[in-house]
Amino acid sequence: MKLDSRKKSKQLNYRLSTFPYHRFIENIDYKFNELELGVLEVDARKTFITCPICGYVDKRKRISKEVFRCGRCGFTFNAQYTACLNIFSRLDDSEITIRSGRMYLISHKAA
Ligand SMILES: [Zn+2]
Repeated sequence: MKLDSRKKSKQLNYRLSTFPYHRFIENIDYKFNELELGVLEVDARKTFITCPICGYVDKRKRISKEVFRCGRCGFTFNAQYTACLNIFSRLDDSEITIRSGRMYLISHKAA
């Protein structure tokens, strides 16, 4: 059983290492341009270990794969959503921004 899961992990690692990311990004760019939508690139490094509220970075403060807890301010949230908040906060986009732990989405209609 353990051997089987190790084999699956190896297969997944191989698939991920040979995944054509460059081509995938090109296809996304093409499809979004076709729909006249813009694509914004974000540096996703350390988004899983960074607190979106205070900016504290510490890999050891992750409780589990599913739960993130900040070692400084105590912010606790789903790790996937925390990473999403960090990605939003890194967007160099005036329409989507996070300041002081609040996310602001600025609508075109409101402007
Ligand atoms: Zn924090």
